[in-house]
Amino acid sequence: MSSEFPLFALSEEHQAIREAVRAVCDAKVAPFAADVDEHARYPDEAAAALLAADFHAPHVPEEYGGAGADALATVIVIEEVARACASSSLIPAVNKLGSLPVQISGSEELKKRYLGKLAAGEGGFSYCLSEPDAGSDAVGMKARAVLDRGSDGDHYVLNGVKRWITNAGVSEYYTVMAVTDPEKRGRGISAFVVEKSDPGVSFGAPEKKLGIKGSPTREVYLDNVRIPADRMIGAEGTGFETAMKTLDHTRVTIAAQAVGIAQGALDYALGYAQERKQFGKSISDFQGMQFLLADMGMKVEAARQLTYAAAGKSERGDADLTFFGAAAKCFASDVAMEVTTNAVQVLGGYGYTRDYPVERMMRDAKITQIYEGTNQVQRIVMARQLLAGVQSQL
Ligand SMILES: Cc1cc2nc3c(=O)[nH]c(=O)nc-3n(C[C@H](O)[C@H](O)[C@H](O)COP(=O)(O)OP(=O)(O)OC[C@H]3O[C@@H](n4cnc5c(N)ncnc54)[C@H](O)[C@@H]3O)c2cc1C
Repeated sequence: MSSEFPLFALSEEHQAIREAVRAVCDAKVAPFAADVDEHARYPDEAAAALLAADFHAPHVPEEYGGAGADALATVIVIEEVARACASSSLIPAVNKLGSLPVQISGSEELKKRYLGKLAAGEGGFSYCLSEPDAGSDAVGMKARAVLDRGSDGDHYVLNGVKRWITNAGVSEYYTVMAVTDPEKRGRGISAFVVEKSDPGVSFGAPEKKLGIKGSPTREVYLDNVRIPADRMIGAEGTGFETAMKTLDHTRVTIAAQAVGIAQGALDYALGYAQERKQFGKSISDFQGMQFLLADMGMKVEAARQLTYAAAGKSERGDADLTFFGAAAKCFASDVAMEVTTNAVQVLGGYGYTRDYPVERMMRDAKITQIYEGTNQVQRIVMARQLLAGVQSQL
């Protein structure tokens, strides 16, 4: 076949990105992953290395000073970082999640100001949708934003509590969804850029989590936070729509994170199975073990292919992205949970200890089935798309 037929093959540029990220991760991310997990500390080494290599927010377009990576390249970056350290992969993933609302719906002025700061490494971006009583049912949020026509110009005053916010306290910038018209439910929600330094913004204690312990998850408290009205992202009442459009794209990045975690566990299990001897031979010589490894490899590859197909749809903005984003996230995260659990099995008792990385990967994998919409919610999204007759477009 001719090389002008790129279907189902990564371009040389994408392959080069994978090699470059892997080199950074092997040298500066993987060596600290166990310590980051053990001490539930922020992955400072990874943050510095990703920033130095311009992999901290690769999706930011070149016109705003970013690396201008397409959706597939961004997925490859996140996948490779997650293969080494899932906590660290939330740096590029959440920078995309937090800033994409600005990129999708923000004014040119907001894009220039905030995407530029993100690209330049002046601060990360978090995404504030969830609340204590509004998780899967995000429309049920209570945070309020009220217009204040003061003598110093139009402002909004924000009050409320956002929960489970990844990288809260570390990020400088926050996309916050808040109710501007309680009568209109989803159409009464607006999105705003809030800065960490805005008076009235504060953070709760880090949650004590099962996995991704190096990624701080905190509540964000908004106490009479008065911000200029031009920090609204898009028109009033469009915030929920922007939030959902964002998730269509970023569920693909969670799928990438899941693929990376699963690949890391598979790689470790393959090496271990060839080293470990029982009954006078390597355990990889036993057919029962080979079948387990084969299923792991098959499922990781299927998840990767679906994720890359979804990334193509994200890049092109295809009409079936909503289905594919949900399908990739749901499938890849279920695969990551299964593959990491089986990697622990491959290592036997050793896999159950913190002396080996696979138990960390198994704990890290679990979150991919929960955030950016649980896998039950992804199935609701997929079923709605199917029943609405949205056809798959290759
Ligand atoms: C570590 C971590 C990081 C996070 N980061 C962020 C972030 O950066 N920004 C942000 O906004 N949010 C974030 N979240 C929030 C996350 O998206 C929510 O936890 C998730 O959407 C689920 O909401 P919930 O926890 O309130 O669960 P609930 O909505 O209470 O769900 C509980 C259970 O009920 C099921 N369920 C709910 N509704 C249905 C239904 N209709 N049909 C079938 N089953 C249903 C769910 O699938 C789940 O199993 C994060 C969460 C965690 C744990």
